Amino acid sequence: MLSKFWTLRRKARKAPVAAPSADSEPVPPQTEEPYSAGEFSIDDYRPMKVICIGAGFSGILAAIRFRQKVPNLDLKIYEKADGVGGTWRANRYPGAACDVPSHCYQFSFEDQVPCFCYSVKAPFVDCDYNSQWSSLFSTGPEILANIERIVDKYKIRKYMNFNHELTHAKWDASSGQWIIRVRHGDEELQDSCDVLLLCIGSLSRWHWPEVEGLKEFGGTLVHSAQWNVGDGASQEEVENWRDKTVGIIGNVGPELLERLFAGSSGIQIAATIHPKIKKMVTYARQRTWIPPPFFVNTLMSILERDPTDTNMAISDEEREKLKDPKQFKSFRHTIEQQMNSFHALVIRESEIQKQAKKNFEERMRQGTAAKPGLLEKMLPTWSVFCRRLTPGEGYLEALCADNTTYETTPIKRVTRAGIELTDGRVDELDVLVCATGFDVSYHYPFDVVGRGGITLNERWSPYAEAYLSLAVDGFPNMFLVYGPGSGLNSGSFFVMVESQMQYVVKAVQKLQAERLKSMEPKKEATTDWTEHMRAYFPKTVYMDTCNSWYKAPDGTVVGLWPGSSLHAIRALANPRWEDYEYESMDKTHNRLQWLGAGHTENERTMTGDLAWYLNAPDVPPIPE
Ligand SMILES: Cc1cc2nc3c(=O)[nH]c(=O)nc-3n(C[C@H](O)[C@H](O)[C@H](O)COP(=O)(O)OP(=O)(O)OC[C@H]3O[C@@H](n4cnc5c(N)ncnc54)[C@H](O)[C@@H]3O)c2cc1C
Repeated sequence: MLSKFWTLRRKARKAPVAAPSADSEPVPPQTEEPYSAGEFSIDDYRPMKVICIGAGFSGILAAIRFRQKVPNLDLKIYEKADGVGGTWRANRYPGAACDVPSHCYQFSFEDQVPCFCYSVKAPFVDCDYNSQWSSLFSTGPEILANIERIVDKYKIRKYMNFNHELTHAKWDASSGQWIIRVRHGDEELQDSCDVLLLCIGSLSRWHWPEVEGLKEFGGTLVHSAQWNVGDGASQEEVENWRDKTVGIIGNVGPELLERLFAGSSGIQIAATIHPKIKKMVTYARQRTWIPPPFFVNTLMSILERDPTDTNMAISDEEREKLKDPKQFKSFRHTIEQQMNSFHALVIRESEIQKQAKKNFEERMRQGTAAKPGLLEKMLPTWSVFCRRLTPGEGYLEALCADNTTYETTPIKRVTRAGIELTDGRVDELDVLVCATGFDVSYHYPFDVVGRGGITLNERWSPYAEAYLSLAVDGFPNMFLVYGPGSGLNSGSFFVMVESQMQYVVKAVQKLQAERLKSMEPKKEATTDWTEHMRAYFPKTVYMDTCNSWYKAPDGTVVGLWPGSSLHAIRALANPRWEDYEYESMDKTHNRLQWLGAGHTENERTMTGDLAWYLNAPDVPPIPE
């Protein structure tokens, strides 16, 4: 509908001249209003209302960056939970922890130390960035505390509305606005915005597994993403489980739990609770790789420890050293460089992949030696990295413990007393933990209605597809962060979301500065993106026959970015604006009307800084 918008406007401008005929008067050429430049300043930016859904890391980043970079902004964040944190607020199970070094699991700008932190008077004290993680792989509560600190530091809580769940969004083509509905308790509110930003996470829609009789279970039933036993203090509650037999359903095959992802949570829970309970049964249908601890040699040598040290806690003395911004910067840089050196692992049959498989197998052989037969039940045939890896610290030890059973026989049903297996055996359980993951179908539980009444769920059947992972044709002025096509198996989550956010901010700046009513990717650009994805993934280990959250049931990779994290930075750095279609706010044929009256707002009002361009000059380096 919008295609060739500008071309049509051009055609309208060249008014057609009717061919004269013998029996009619010549028709004078149609004229149109002559173009007049607007009366506004080029930087008299129109108000932009942006609504962001979700207050996890992505929504928090949106608040920080939009406030920083978009003038005349009206920002609102709706979050269905009762506070910030997303993943790290929801997943409070025992053992929830970062699977990459914590110093890299934070925003890149959070290690840029403001000058006042290391003034001569008070060197390195009270730095308001986080170099002070207590562990190399910190726990969920510590990550959540860091998130709360960031939200307070950037003063963005005031934009957030908690316990507000998006239930419906509809594009109104005439006003160029999204009209949204939000549930807040028993009320349903309506709001509207110029730009809708979905920061709702890929792993935030948890479900009970569809196992017969689950709700009949007579003991304590809990899901890893809603750990609501006791007073919510997960670790403490487990202290009361000393006489309990606990079953953990996780790592289950697709034949039982269609489209539910499992793995990491079950591994972390088992490793943490087994010394604190009477007996543990882990139900695991999928084989899985348990890697040697990640990066440990590097981490230990940077900390000047023995490289074979396995103690992940960071001592007070080490933390003190990391308060020095230079030390911290170099520490993070070294680790992050190593995180970014694994991309070749995802390429099928690469040397590094073969070597990793060998090392992992050896590590699992050693780790399971105490329980004959265990390795054969666990060892995958598929490549390392086909599924996301979890460090799995202590997991093999937990499985080898006398009080643990690793059960691979399929579950028939849950009964009041426990679990009945397909071979007729019954396990009596006091507690049943479902670490069965999330709905990763990208079929959202609310309707987003785009142009022509089509819903996002319809547009995304059979597969979710978003141009460069962040925009969808037919859904103008809507962007996604950490949606389909954004997952990374190596490299940092923050690299991806910061790159996506930078792109989205540029798009919104363009809408505002160029007086555009709407923009959306061209259908053919999205098709090219999808074609590229389909051509890229067959070269990778993701196509092996493992079950993972980033694949559709037929094995099509939907959730991942087609390349490394460094590749994503480059790809998203310079948007291809020609891949979009636009509508102007102004009724003019002239695409440059936004140039306005030829002055800036400071000049019009003779206020403010009239030489602002000298404040942060781009100083080129002088060659040696
Ligand atoms: C158990 C677990 C462990 C993980 N560990 C790691 C790790 O160690 N390293 C790593 O890199 N990644 C990890 N991840 C991935 C993790 O999800 C990302 O790293 C990151 O936290 C995602 O942030 P986000 O803001 O994009 O999404 P989320 O954190 O999922 O936040 C999305 C927010 O949107 C809200 N929301 C959703 N729908 C609506 C709606 N309709 N209305 C209003 N609000 C809504 C949700 O309540 C949530 O708060 C883990 C994920 C899980 C589930």
